[in-house]
Amino acid sequence: MQKDSKIYIAGHLGMVGSAIMRKLKNEGFINLIHKSSEELDLTNQQQVISFFKNEKPEFVFLAAAKVGGIQANNTYRAQFLYENLMIQSNVIHQSYVHNVKKLLFLASSCIYPKFAEQPIKESDLLTGLLEYTNEPYAIAKIAGVKLCENYNKQYGSNFISVMPTNLYGSNDTYDLNNAHVLPALLQKFHHAKINNLKNVEVWGSGTPKREFLHVNDLADACYFLMQNYKGNIALNIGTGNDISIKELAMLIKDIVGFQGSIYWNNEKPDGTPRKLLDVSLIHNLGWKHRIELVDGIKEVYLKKFMS
Ligand code: GDP
Repeated sequence: MQKDSKIYIAGHLGMVGSAIMRKLKNEGFINLIHKSSEELDLTNQQQVISFFKNEKPEFVFLAAAKVGGIQANNTYRAQFLYENLMIQSNVIHQSYVHNVKKLLFLASSCIYPKFAEQPIKESDLLTGLLEYTNEPYAIAKIAGVKLCENYNKQYGSNFISVMPTNLYGSNDTYDLNNAHVLPALLQKFHHAKINNLKNVEVWGSGTPKREFLHVNDLADACYFLMQNYKGNIALNIGTGNDISIKELAMLIKDIVGFQGSIYWNNEKPDGTPRKLLDVSLIHNLGWKHRIELVDGIKEVYLKKFMS
């Protein structure tokens, strides 16, 4: 990518897309293109065809997707499957038709089998059953990875996929019905603290473990891979460390300074017991995360709730 290359960031208003935009701007890229979903509906094939015909981007970061936490995934099952299939099929196919030089597709660690051996290697994809709560999203994302792989194989394109672990950072979703656990807990503990509540409800048993990556680190990794990686393996991006939801809840409670107690709501699902990524492949390529979880949570908390 040259500093004046025409780069399309699909999903630039979302957490991942906006982090990639910030990264590219900081690196001095000056020809970035983006459209809001009102301007360009990526589920609409005709609109995507016209967009690529008119704009002819040279590089594409495909960060547009319908995303959400465990409850949203489990509730809007048809939409998670349909919208993600449409968005990625339209963008990947038009990238091929219009000779995009390189595309990076954002998949997700939740597309690995529910009971994959830990830490999860890239080669574990499609070796077992998926977690029920996010199966529709996972099926769509697996299709996206396979589109990239097979367009490369049949047409010689240069489309790469990445598998980020659970993310947090700027522009996250804080609406409790759609949020992932980390922003949800920041929101709940903060609300409880300023309203002097006695309890905070946390979902599930607290025993599942999750790995968390700051979205700025993810953007850094995507930028790195766009320059340094070509291939059909969808690379894991994470920290290589995970913590239990119970530990996360205690950590956030401390950072926020909430003095009350935690009520564990076992009626809410736990989801996958563990999904720690094996990050040795990306480490071997020369990339490693920089933001540690405690520092990242403090930064997000200050920015979102204290400024
Ligand atoms: P997942 O990684 O796809 O399972 O998505 P989430 O980030 O939504 O959930 C991760 C884990 O955190 C699950 O075990 C949830 O039950 C648990 N959890 C605890 N409290 C909350 C909460 O308030 N919101 C969400 N989304 N998850 C919670």
